[in-house]
Amino acid sequence: MTYAAKKRRRIDWAHLAGVVILLMVFLAIVYLGYRIIRMERIPAALKSENSHAGAITEINDRYLIAAYYPEESNGELEKKLKEQLQKRIDAFKSETAEIEVADKNSRLVYFCDYQRYEDGDILSYLFLEKEGNNPLLLEEKDFFTAAYDKAKKEEATLDFLFLGDYRKQMAALLRREFKKSAYADQTDLEKFYLFTQAESSLYDFFVIRDQKLSFCFDSREILTEDKGIIMQDIPLAEMDFCLKEDLHTAETVAATADDAKRLRYVDALKPMVALTYDDGPYGPVTERLLDALKKVNGAATFFVVGSRVNWRANAGMIERAIAEGSEVGCHTYNHSNLTKLTTEEIQKEIKDTVEAIEAKVEGYHVLSVRPVGGAYDDHVKQSVNYVMYNWSVDSLDWKSRDRDAILEKVRASIEDGDIVLMHDLYESTAEASEVLIPELARTYQLVTVTELMEYKGVQVKAGDVVLSPMKKIR
Ligand SMILES: [Zn+2]
Repeated sequence: MTYAAKKRRRIDWAHLAGVVILLMVFLAIVYLGYRIIRMERIPAALKSENSHAGAITEINDRYLIAAYYPEESNGELEKKLKEQLQKRIDAFKSETAEIEVADKNSRLVYFCDYQRYEDGDILSYLFLEKEGNNPLLLEEKDFFTAAYDKAKKEEATLDFLFLGDYRKQMAALLRREFKKSAYADQTDLEKFYLFTQAESSLYDFFVIRDQKLSFCFDSREILTEDKGIIMQDIPLAEMDFCLKEDLHTAETVAATADDAKRLRYVDALKPMVALTYDDGPYGPVTERLLDALKKVNGAATFFVVGSRVNWRANAGMIERAIAEGSEVGCHTYNHSNLTKLTTEEIQKEIKDTVEAIEAKVEGYHVLSVRPVGGAYDDHVKQSVNYVMYNWSVDSLDWKSRDRDAILEKVRASIEDGDIVLMHDLYESTAEASEVLIPELARTYQLVTVTELMEYKGVQVKAGDVVLSPMKKIR
């Protein structure tokens, strides 16, 4: 072979290699172009609302999956949230493994996006999971929350934010605020008090926004109707005595036991009794009872006589009783036996007393009546538009007028759920109560009659006569 022939051949080889490479590049471009044209994108309905979101997505003939988590350099928390989402996606796939998918239009959709809240140093996220077949018509499935302290670079759990026995305050606040909410009328009270117990997992799902702690829960847990996932705020200001950090300045604040802000919390699963005092108010005695109740953070029910409400010697008693969590009920205006009155007379006795009480404290509503002498009949039941409370333990204080006799009588029979009859008229009753109240408080929670029915899950209505939660006369 001549040198020239050799050279020509080498050139041919190089030429061929170049052609092959060009062809491969061409094919690759054609293939990628085909893939891009064929590639499906996440539908707009399944996009995140958040600008700094990381995404886990999956599209195939069976699934449309789009889940988002925050990516704003919250380190460990973001990693944890991403893992949590992946676990939920895996669970979704295994739960739906048996479902037949006919075509792309009936693909199984999993969507999870989050709402972001920022309050001082605390960032919080509420994740809402939705599922279905149509990206535009998904159903809420579940939710979870997370919070992060930017300054301390740590996950902000309740134990991170609060000190000591904070859960009781939180539960008492949640109950109080929820009763003022638009959902209050649709609440199943028995479920409500169990679900809102201080140790409930409900309190683990929260975000912090506008200086409020906002708890998220499934409405089906406590409402009689399904209203989806709902949120209930409680003001952080009322938690500040157990708050570890000032959420705005991140300065450590000394946690002080500020009893004035501490609300009374009732544990629905622990024993409770309702002490009731009739015929007052009577300043010198009523005041001693309120002092004794305050020391143990207890409450009682004062069934007052309307004509006594505005006596000067009793000034301030009704306001104080209500402010400190006790209940003020009606014991008629003139201490009249209702069974001897006409319908009009009964209703006037009640109305005049209720008005006198309600005029003392704005927004207060009387909820209970104690008939004089416990006397009632069908006519009384039909005429009184309130729940009537009699009693299951009679202290006979009006008869004995003796401290030790009263103590003996009550100690001998008191049990969980009892309603105890006493009178805030006698010094002997004050003396006995000053012993009884701290003594009972060691075993029982001291509640009002209305609370007793609520926490025991007993529904009552106007005209009912209650002796105890176990003994109710319709
Ligand atoms: Zn009486």
